[in-house]
Formats: sequence, structure tokens, C-alpha cells
Amino acid sequence: MLDQLQPFMQGPGDEGEIKRGSRMIPSLRRYGNQLIGMPTPIGHALGGIAAGTLIGGAAETDGDRSRLVRWLALLAVLGMLPDADFLVGAHREASHSVGAVLLVVGGGVLVVPRQPRIWAATGAAYLTHVVLDWLGTDTVAPFGLMALWPIDTAFYMSSVELFHPVCRQYWLVGCWASLGRAVAVELAVIGPFAAVGLVRTGLRRRRSRDRSGDTRAPRSPRG
Ligand SMILES: [Zn+2]
Repeated sequence: MLDQLQPFMQGPGDEGEIKRGSRMIPSLRRYGNQLIGMPTPIGHALGGIAAGTLIGGAAETDGDRSRLVRWLALLAVLGMLPDADFLVGAHREASHSVGAVLLVVGGGVLVVPRQPRIWAATGAAYLTHVVLDWLGTDTVAPFGLMALWPIDTAFYMSSVELFHPVCRQYWLVGCWASLGRAVAVELAVIGPFAAVGLVRTGLRRRRSRDRSGDTRAPRSPRG
């Protein structure tokens, strides 16, 4: 895959090491900051929505449309949230790990007590980011992510390279074509899971509304 992206790459080739599965192998090369690996925010948002709705459905939104929209937005944000580590200059370290997932679940326990479905759904939404990045293509050292922090601080990367790196040279037509291909792959791989989750959530919301409608409906016949 990197060969196809060579026109967008430049800069020195710093060698490093990367763990693919359980073994260390010579890494990819560093190509300055012209490419960033891993799925786009679109792919990560879809991943968060897919996992969150498949596990948590409509959560406790009780058929309320605005609460459902906020729930889906929360799942999307959780799917993208680990990349906020760009702001602190520690990209793909502790934020991209199972330890961070446990912290999210712990935060849920504190904020919404006795809601294990919400804890699991929000934790899973965050976990999708770690898994999707692990399945991606990294072009910026250190390669991979600190997936097992705090148990292990090594950087892990699968050899699948399922998702394309994202081009940042937006002034080039070829860059947009590359970006379009990256998003298309993400939609093809993650989109079906998100669609199933959203359809299930929609059906549950309808049933919930029907039940609440039955409860509120007047019993006395007209006329
Ligand atoms: Zn990431």
C-alpha cells in the first residue's frame, strides 16, 4: 500500500521497529508529516456509533428524539476522542489503549450508576478507535499504538493495513482522490455495522414510543 502512496510522501526515512502481532519486525519508514495513518474521523465516528448501538441500542433515551441524537453524538465523539491526544503531543500512547477504555467505563460508572449497558456501549465505542487504528496503516513514527498500556508500553500494529493513510496535502488533486478512497474503504468496512446498529436502535425507539403511547392513550371510547 505504501508504494501506491509514494507520490505523496517526502522527507527522511527514519527506521524504527514495530510490533506486528507478537513479533518485532523492521518498521515502515517515516515520511515527514505528509501522511497520517489510521482511519479518518468519519471512520472512527462510524465505528463508535456501530459498537455503541449494537451493544447499547437506544440506551435509556425512552423514544425521545433529541435524547437519541445526543446519545449517537456521544458515541461518535467517543469513537474519535483518542485522537484528541494530538493536542498534548503524545499521539497513540495511553489514549489508544485498553487502559483508556477501562477509564471510560469507570467514568460511566460514576456518571450513570446502575447502567451497565451504557457503560459497555460507551467503552466499546472508545475501544473501536483502538482496534481500527491497529488495523490501519501508520506512516509516522513511532509506528503503531500503545494498545496494552499500562501493562505494556510497546507500540503494536497489525499487518493487515486495512485502512489507508490519510493524505494532508489538500492542494493536490491526487491527495483528494487518495482521501476519497480511504473514506470509501471505511464506509464499506464499518458502514454496514453502523447501519445495522442504527436500524436496530430505530426499531427499539419505535417500540418504546408505541409502549409510551399506549400508556398515555385515553382508555374511554369516543362518542
Ligand atoms: Zn487514533
